[in-house]
Amino acid sequence: MTQVLEIAGLVKTFGGLMATDHVSLTVNAGEIHALIGPNGAGKSTLINQICGELAPNAGQIHLAGRDITRLPPAERVALGLGRTFQITSLLDDMTVRENLGLAVQAREGGNFRIFDRAAKRAEVWDEVAASLDASALGPRADVPVADLAHGEKKQLELMMALAQRPRLLLLDEPMAGLGHVESQQMIEALRAVRKDCAILLVEHDMEAVFALADRISVLVYGQIIAAGTADEIRANPAVREAYLGEEDS
Ligand code: ADP
Ligand code: MG
Repeated sequence: MTQVLEIAGLVKTFGGLMATDHVSLTVNAGEIHALIGPNGAGKSTLINQICGELAPNAGQIHLAGRDITRLPPAERVALGLGRTFQITSLLDDMTVRENLGLAVQAREGGNFRIFDRAAKRAEVWDEVAASLDASALGPRADVPVADLAHGEKKQLELMMALAQRPRLLLLDEPMAGLGHVESQQMIEALRAVRKDCAILLVEHDMEAVFALADRISVLVYGQIIAAGTADEIRANPAVREAYLGEEDS
């Protein structure tokens, strides 16, 4: 099986706090790997080291076989690391279609040679139209982003991240703030993504995690205390005590 992401012995300290305590995990091609754990467990700290926003104290991160541990964020993106644009980076006055067009152009580098510029532009808009047609946002293509519901903005963020054609997508709580129907739509959208790109999913919504994850790793106080399939994680006594148990009480 092809490993898209391999993290080995990663350590990140903040003063005396070990926020990432020798974490190792892998994400395989075609896989959704969920990372769960209580608040403050170190999930976002881990994601930020994979993106390159935080430098680890020790350990390695490989993306598709390349050591990216010390690479700046933009070089990681060029090697196929995707993450969602934040809602704040959407351009409110522009339509869904126009925002998506910008994301596709960003992938193409924007510097088309003069003589094939018109042809390239047409390709960009064809690609945008095709991805909109295949998505729940299709009927909203020409609506300004300012008029979208929160869940629609989250869908657009996902589509803009996918426009980069990443091999691995990092998602930090994509269900946050979504209602039930919007969550179901996001679950469907993520299911459809899996065949094109692997996902490392940080998520509190356990219904979504159990619906989507091929494997789950459980992070508590910076350490992976368990990893396995959804059934294995549900049945794991240490996980129930440290984490899932708190959901019942
Ligand atoms: P999670 O995303 O699982 O809720 P975080 O990764 O945000 O957890 O935080 C893990 C721990 O690291 C927490 O104790 C948090 O207070 C601490 N922490 C996170 N970022 C910083 C920072 N920039 N400086 C100091 N401490 C931090
Ligand atoms: Mg977090």
